[in-house]
Amino acid sequence: MKKEYLIKLGEISLKGLNRKDFERQLATNIKAKLSPAHSAVRSTKGRMYLDVDEQVSDSVLSKALSTTFGISFFARCYSCGKDLDQIDGLVKSILPLGFADDGSSFKIDARREDKSFPLTSSQIEVRLAGIAHSMFPSLKVDLRNPDHALHVEIRDKAYAYMSQASSSSGLPVGSSGKALCLLSGGIDSPVAAYMAASRGLHLELVYFHAYPYTGEEALDKVRTLAKLISPYLNGTVLHVVNFTPMEKLIEASSSEREKTLMLRAAMIRVAEKLAKKRRCGALVTGESLAQVASQTLEALDFTTSMTDCLVLRPLIGMDKEAIISLARKIGTYETSILPYSDCCSLFSPAHPMTRPNRNREREAYFRMDGVEKAEDQAVSDSEAIAYDASVMEQ
Ligand code: ATP
Ligand code: MG
Repeated sequence: MKKEYLIKLGEISLKGLNRKDFERQLATNIKAKLSPAHSAVRSTKGRMYLDVDEQVSDSVLSKALSTTFGISFFARCYSCGKDLDQIDGLVKSILPLGFADDGSSFKIDARREDKSFPLTSSQIEVRLAGIAHSMFPSLKVDLRNPDHALHVEIRDKAYAYMSQASSSSGLPVGSSGKALCLLSGGIDSPVAAYMAASRGLHLELVYFHAYPYTGEEALDKVRTLAKLISPYLNGTVLHVVNFTPMEKLIEASSSEREKTLMLRAAMIRVAEKLAKKRRCGALVTGESLAQVASQTLEALDFTTSMTDCLVLRPLIGMDKEAIISLARKIGTYETSILPYSDCCSLFSPAHPMTRPNRNREREAYFRMDGVEKAEDQAVSDSEAIAYDASVMEQ
C-alpha cells in the first residue's frame, strides 16, 4: 500500500520555461531523502504528489519534506476518482481523522481546477459540509477561524487533505550549482550554509582544523553540525583540512595585529584551491558586516581581494539576534554554543587591525616564507566525510 502527500511549490511556480528543470530537481531530492524506501513524485500545475510506501512513518515524511527547499507547504492527502459518490465516500472515511463531535467549528474549502466537474466550488463545499454535519451534529461552521478544515481539490483526480505543514520554501538544492561553505564550530556558518542551500546551491563544507590549537571536541562539534544541516543540504561532504602547519607559519611570521587577517586570507585561499578541485563555483562564509574585527568593510575587502573565487556571504545584512533565531529554528544553536574554541578564537589578538590596507596586507601575506606551499599542503592534507541525504534511519 502507498500513502500520498500533496506538495505545494513555492518560488518554483513563478518560473517560466525552465520550471520543469526545477521540478525535476525537487523530485530527485525528495526521492533521495526517502531512499531506500521506494517513492514516486509527479507534478501538475503548481502541485506535486508524492506516493510512498505505507511503512514510512509520518514523522520521517515530515522530517524529509520540511527540510527540502522548494516546498512551501505539504500535507498528507487522500485521493479518488472525480465521481461524486466516490468523493462522498472518501470524505466520510477521512473526516474522523481530524473532526470530532465536540461542538468545535469547521470549514470545508473546495477548489475546482477542472472546470468540467459538474459542481462549482461552493456547491462542493455545501454538499460536503452536509456530510460533516450528519456525522458530527454538534459541529458549527466557522469560515474565518475554524478549529478544523477539510480541503478538497478537483484536479486530475479528487484530492482531500486536512492540516498542512509549512516547509522551507526557497529553491531545490542543486538547481543553482555547487559551492564550498567554510564551516566553523560557531553559530553563523551553519546558518550561512542553510541560507545558501535555500537558494538552490549544492554545498560541500570545509573545516580548518588546527590540532592541538583546537581540540578533538571542536572537530566533533563541526561533525555534529554537518550532520544536523545535512538534510537541508540534501547530503554533503565535509572536508577536514589539517591547518596546523599554516597556523604555525602565521604564528611565527606575522605581527600580532595582523594575525587574524593572515588567518582569514589563508582560509579563503585554501578554500578556493579546494573549491576548484571539487568543481565548486563559489565560496560561502558566515560573515556578517561589522560583527567582529575581521568583518569590517576593509577586512572583508581584503579577504575578497585574496581570491579570484566568488565569495557569497548570505548573512551580510543580518543582525546576530536574527541569526540566532534561525540557528534555533534549524536546530544548530545548542551545538554551536558548546564551549570549544575554534582556531579563530585562539587567534584573536587583543587589538586586531580593523582597517587594513588591501595592498599592504597582501604583501605581508606573500612575505610569509613558504606560504603558498603551506596552502597546497593544506589542500592535500584533508579528509572527506560524506553525509547522506536520506533521513530514513532517524
Ligand atoms: P561563526 O559563528 O560561523 O564561527 P564568527 O562570527 O565566529 O563565525 P569568524 O570566526 O571571524 O566569525 O569566522 C567568519 C567565517 O569564517 C565563519 O562564519 C566561517 O565561514 C569561516 N571560518 C572561521 N573559522 C573557520 C574554520 N576553523 N574552518 C572553516 N571556516 C571557518
Ligand atoms: Mg567562528
